[in-house]
Amino acid sequence: MAKKITLLGSTGSIGTQSLDVARTQGYEVFALAAYSNVDLLERQIQEFHPRYVAVVSPVAYERLSARLAGQADAPILMQGAESLVELAKMPEADVVLNAVVGIAGLGATLAALEAGKDVALANKESLVTGGHLVMQAAQKSGAKLLPVDSEHSAIFQCLQDPYGPKALSKILLTASGGPFFGMKPEELKNKTFRDALKHPNWSMGSKITIDSATLMNKGLELIEAVWLFDLPADKVEVVVQRQSIIHSMVQFVDNSILAQLGVPDMRIPIQYALTWPERLPGSTPELDFRTLQSITFDQPDEETFRCLAACKKAITKGGLAPCAANGANEEAVRLFLEEKIGFLDIGRLVEAVVDSDSFGGSYNLSDVYECDRMARRFVLEQL
Ligand code: NDP
Ligand code: MG
Repeated sequence: MAKKITLLGSTGSIGTQSLDVARTQGYEVFALAAYSNVDLLERQIQEFHPRYVAVVSPVAYERLSARLAGQADAPILMQGAESLVELAKMPEADVVLNAVVGIAGLGATLAALEAGKDVALANKESLVTGGHLVMQAAQKSGAKLLPVDSEHSAIFQCLQDPYGPKALSKILLTASGGPFFGMKPEELKNKTFRDALKHPNWSMGSKITIDSATLMNKGLELIEAVWLFDLPADKVEVVVQRQSIIHSMVQFVDNSILAQLGVPDMRIPIQYALTWPERLPGSTPELDFRTLQSITFDQPDEETFRCLAACKKAITKGGLAPCAANGANEEAVRLFLEEKIGFLDIGRLVEAVVDSDSFGGSYNLSDVYECDRMARRFVLEQL
């Protein structure tokens, strides 16, 4: 029987590449969800014939309803943010692939896990904002959390040996360094979003591309790794690997290191999350060692790229500090894309929110959303 997937965020960079994988593997697409990209959703409906489609934006929902009116095999349409949560819980799908961007993905991740559905997780913000709740939900229901983020997929792949997780001593989380690697604040202060959107190795959505330029992405991934692999933050070391060929490494208690390599193509980790524990042929090209010139290593510059330092501070503080860092970053990136703040302001604001409170203690889901709103207000008040 073909695997059935529910794909949230189907119109994005990860979403469309996930559909490439579904096409290659012959998976059935049970449900799709997006925010507002009706044109692409319509094409996806025509090709994959999902049973359900959720659209968050009310205007986009009306447009899609009008276009599908009268079609005999049209999917059932759902509207609003809650519809993602409804889809995530539905028993028919084998796996929910969450490729929504931002904290908007958290509710669906939790709902799927609570309902006992395996989650292939690209939406790292779920773990950053509500890590404790997400891990608890997975543990309680026994549902699997399968990493899609390339670094975490690499780590996961390196830990498949049953003795591996027990002997893990350190994670070497690789980072491309982004388009501004090596630059100092003087050069960075006038960088625009157009400069920041030119990533050297990966083609991704605009939010994560800005996060890669500020190193916020690596900070979010460090927090994601702490939750997924149950190591303290000081056991996750960021290593700059400019070519994005080594996707991450694990070090064991005997100081032996395993790495996972491949071309920078998200279809490899997406496919692994969907076929695990099996490996199947895919459509990604092989790494050509005849043309690969070198694999280099460098240190990240946390003095200049304050987002990474702020995320380390946040996960060390614990509680809702990572959620606050994430909320401030989401708001700051939005303002940067609208040219209302400068590049260096993003790190300054994320760090300031983390420094503004102790954030400690346990939390529930409404605390997470309240903290997110607080962090966004904090940023707007600094303008
Ligand atoms: P994109 O911006 O390309 O796509 C985001 C998707 O989420 C779109 O389908 C979008 O719909 C939808 N969406 C946006 N806002 C909302 C909302 N409020 N509610 C529901 N759906 C929403 O992002 P990416 O694909 O680049 O990234 C998705 C996630 O994967 C992020 O968490 C990112 O960090 C992570 N990731 C991405 C990688 C990459 O290579 N791109 C690599 C590793 C992780 P619409 O198009 O209609 O706006
Ligand atoms: Mg990544």
